[in-house]
Amino acid sequence: MSWPQDDLGPARVVFLRLIEGVDAVVVLDNVVLGPAIGGVRMTRRADLPATEVARLARAMTLKNAAAGLPHGGGKSGIAVHTDLDSDGRERVMRAFALAIKDLVDYIPGPDMGTDETSMAVVHDEIGRCVGLPAVLGGIPLDELGATGYGVAVCADALEDAKVLTLAGATVVVQGFGAVGSHAALRLRERGAIVVAVSDIEGATYAPDGLDVAELLEFKRSGQPVGGFPGGVRVPRDDILTLACDIIVPAAQPDVFTAATARRTRAKVILQGANIPASPEAEAEFHRMGILSVPDIIANAGGVICASVEYRGGARTQAFQQIEEKIRANTAELLDRMKGSDLLPREAATQMAMARLRRGAAYRRRL
Ligand code: NAD
Repeated sequence: MSWPQDDLGPARVVFLRLIEGVDAVVVLDNVVLGPAIGGVRMTRRADLPATEVARLARAMTLKNAAAGLPHGGGKSGIAVHTDLDSDGRERVMRAFALAIKDLVDYIPGPDMGTDETSMAVVHDEIGRCVGLPAVLGGIPLDELGATGYGVAVCADALEDAKVLTLAGATVVVQGFGAVGSHAALRLRERGAIVVAVSDIEGATYAPDGLDVAELLEFKRSGQPVGGFPGGVRVPRDDILTLACDIIVPAAQPDVFTAATARRTRAKVILQGANIPASPEAEAEFHRMGILSVPDIIANAGGVICASVEYRGGARTQAFQQIEEKIRANTAELLDRMKGSDLLPREAATQMAMARLRRGAAYRRRL
């Protein structure tokens, strides 16, 4: 796998020995639009996945720019050799925070293996991070459903552009976690009919519509969605090929391959998860006339929330910004695609690159 190295970045790659047996790497891919926000991934591995961290940092550069945020992209990886108890994790996070103290262009956030408690430790040491507990000024985006809300705002913008009509639209949601459940609730509020929902264990189907609020209660009581009495249990992945207006993949990467894409019978796909479709699947959707709005546009609610939190903003401001930015970005995406044969992801990347170029023009060259 190759390491991104081009005009965009990386601006800086820093290898750190935190404590005996614990190494870290921080990649600041690009800081042209502002300080880089990106998660800290803690993994139990013998080697440091620097190439992977660099690729994830590049993805953040494009995502933050596509979202229209004044932030660059970065990422860090911490490789620990053994399972750590909470004291061990705290020691590692304190050492990490002190090691990045002077890397002022990097704002860490939670990622796989770290959480709001880890960020509270970073905050305690250097006062610079996002994803904090609410009591320290954090905006609890999963609890509030910020990303799911953004997915529904993306659908609003498609309705404004007459791509779809939400009242009566049939919706399938893959993954009923923080993103999927809130996307389902918000789309239901707009008059859409959520006909099928899955989680990792199975799926539930009701052609006349599921009661999403009741399904959420049921799920919160610890039961898998497949057992919901308001629907019929169906095999988990069957719902991906149902005829419907909208599919929201909100579970895992690489759900759609070219082969599964060819069996898809939706009109629109709103990518709640990160990279839920392979490049071949996205090309296939385009060929079939299915609009698949890429993750960097449709699920930007999370990064927008992080940016508002960084500026000390409140949750209401986060929701206002999600509304404003995702609506405008979806409209721009459609504009760029109009009259061209650009794939949605190509158009979104063009948007991000145009903003990065405009930002770069303001940098010192002498
Ligand atoms: P989550 O853990 O809260 O929920 C994931 C859900 O997907 C669970 O219900 C799980 O049972 C289900 N699931 C897992 N594998 C499945 C499968 N093969 N088929 C059907 N269901 C399956 O996670 P989340 O925070 O909702 O995130 C979902 C996806 O969205 C992830 O890819 C994440 O990286 C991405 N994402 C999340 C946010 C956010 O704000 N949370 C923002 C951007 C992107």
